[in-house]
Amino acid sequence: MTPDLGGQIQRAMLDRAAASAAIAWIVIAIGVGLWASEVKRRRFWIWFLLSFVTGPVAWYLIFSRLGIAVPVSVRITCPKCQKLTRSDMPRCVRCRAFIDDSSRHRAGDLARQAATMVFTARRLLGTTRRAVDAARQDPKPRSGR
Ligand SMILES: [Zn+2]
Repeated sequence: MTPDLGGQIQRAMLDRAAASAAIAWIVIAIGVGLWASEVKRRRFWIWFLLSFVTGPVAWYLIFSRLGIAVPVSVRITCPKCQKLTRSDMPRCVRCRAFIDDSSRHRAGDLARQAATMVFTARRLLGTTRRAVDAARQDPKPRSGR
């Protein structure tokens, strides 16, 4: 009997495309989770799972519908816009005005933001690399030719 080579190649390519799409989906979910936890101060796992399960619905919610989380423990009223904001952040989460108006906080704020961005990028890179490494481990043994 003759093996259906064309069909095999097509199936292999479809498998590869499906694997790539799955990796991209997981990487996006990790990115959404990290962004939710670092920027919006929300739980990583909840947003990772939501993005994984609902996709665009979760992206829409976290990127445009939900603001930065304001837990009861750090809740204060912004002196400028009179809305609820966090006492542990130098800027108001809504109007971006400095809560503590003394300018000595500004340099530290910038440095902290830069550090947070580097930290987030590193975490994202490491997680992505691990996901790709895991996906690269071919479960099928190679024939040699
Ligand atoms: Zn404000």
